[in-house]
Amino acid sequence: MRQQSNIVSLPAELVQQPGTLPAHCTRHGRPAARRVDFALQSKVRIEGSRVRQVGVFGGAGMADRLGQHAKKVRVTHVKGWPLCHTCARTRASWLVVSSVMFFGGLLAFVGSLIIGIIAEKGTVPWLAGVAVAGFVLLVLSAFPFHRGSLARLVGANTAPDGTSVRVTNPSAAFVAELPRTG
Ligand SMILES: [Zn+2]
Repeated sequence: MRQQSNIVSLPAELVQQPGTLPAHCTRHGRPAARRVDFALQSKVRIEGSRVRQVGVFGGAGMADRLGQHAKKVRVTHVKGWPLCHTCARTRASWLVVSSVMFFGGLLAFVGSLIIGIIAEKGTVPWLAGVAVAGFVLLVLSAFPFHRGSLARLVGANTAPDGTSVRVTNPSAAFVAELPRTG
């Protein structure tokens, strides 16, 4: 168990084995109300100059970047990560906000298009505004969705080499229950 400042590294084998993780959550240090399995990705820093990717080479550059991302991203299949009631509630709230924004935006956008088709031209002047607002809402729903993601919630990500999972600022209760190695 390596501890660097406030980042704790857990071996990938440990987190991928059910029943090995502590019974207190990483964020609040409260008893786990439920355990979750999820895929935790590594953060990928894409190489390549930005200058090459503009203009006619933009498309090729983007494909190259996506290819690099797929090759470099490491995924750990975390088993039984502890979440307390507060963690679970936080996650649920962000996901509710996100889906309300997503479906509200979709409804406004599609609805105004349909009304625009049915209604005669020029009879509903505010329709374009509603369509734009709906579209913006649709795009913005990605932010609360990201806030509600498990990786963000528990403050963890997979190391670039895929051999460990790094937890940022874990609670003392979580750290205390980690199995000792060596
Ligand atoms: Zn918690």
